[in-house]
Amino acid sequence: MVLLQSQYRKAVQRPLARSAQSARPSGPPRIQSGRLAFSLVPQAATLYPIRMPISDWFSRRERYTRVAEPSAKRPVPDGIWSKCASCNQVIYQKQMARNFKVCPHCQHHFEMSALERIDMLADDGSFVELDAGLEAADPLRFRALKTYTESLEQAKARSGAREAIVTGTAMLGGRPIMLGAMDFRFVGGSMGSVVGEKVARAFDEAGQRRLPVLMVASSGGARMQEGMLALMQMAKTSAAVGRFKKAGPPFISILADPTSGGVTASFPTLADIIIAEPGAFVGFTGPRVIEDTIKQKLPPGFQRAEFVLEHGMVDMVLPRELHLEIIARLLDYLSGGA
Ligand SMILES: [Zn+2]
Repeated sequence: MVLLQSQYRKAVQRPLARSAQSARPSGPPRIQSGRLAFSLVPQAATLYPIRMPISDWFSRRERYTRVAEPSAKRPVPDGIWSKCASCNQVIYQKQMARNFKVCPHCQHHFEMSALERIDMLADDGSFVELDAGLEAADPLRFRALKTYTESLEQAKARSGAREAIVTGTAMLGGRPIMLGAMDFRFVGGSMGSVVGEKVARAFDEAGQRRLPVLMVASSGGARMQEGMLALMQMAKTSAAVGRFKKAGPPFISILADPTSGGVTASFPTLADIIIAEPGAFVGFTGPRVIEDTIKQKLPPGFQRAEFVLEHGMVDMVLPRELHLEIIARLLDYLSGGA
């Protein structure tokens, strides 16, 4: 619609001018308690369009209209994409799940929960959990920044697990096995009385039933909140492996990132075949403590899977995608079936 200038003045400018006059103060600014008694801003703002030609009025209006420009950096919706901590590339989470939580760009092996690990290794619907009801007590009434009981409750809520290991019987490619998987999200996968007990029971049960054992370790070590009781689990689980070995079936362990402290120094490294995941930390004490103790700089890659393989501490470094195939072949070979 074309609006003549006279029509425009009648329709728009005059009412504006009237409203401007009504907003204008009737006298000079009065000072009240050191402040202006009225504001001059409404007056200036309402008078402004009166002096403008109609063409400017429309062109200038654009300056007051701000349309948000489409941003090149759209926010990443939670739960769909994630960023690789190693190569910084964005990864589609469904793709990562299909890839056993391995980065498709740099092959970084992400942490897996115990249940994810069991889901990957066990045939569908074959896993039967053992000792699911075992839960830690707090015999020392340990308290640091928070009590041990509080730590346990938070760990349960965060991980959905009841303890730092899940054990049970399963089938792996049609072969019956005893399977255990540690969960680093539960108090750092630390080994306390319950983890030790579940590991010992799993080995004893496997020995009686002549089942091969596959254990996946992912742990910061012994659980300090249980003090000496946690350290005793190193001897207890090692003794259980000793009893199991007399029974004869093979024991294979997978060392995931990180495997350290009292867990490295007990059952996982007593296996017949020790497999480490690429890049996994495998060691007893952290490199900073060692450097401080021996006053020497450690070589690059120290205590990583590839380094400990070179130094004879593990038998192979195996990418996750090959675990099922190679472990099945190893079980057949060690059981005399191939
Ligand atoms: Zn990556």
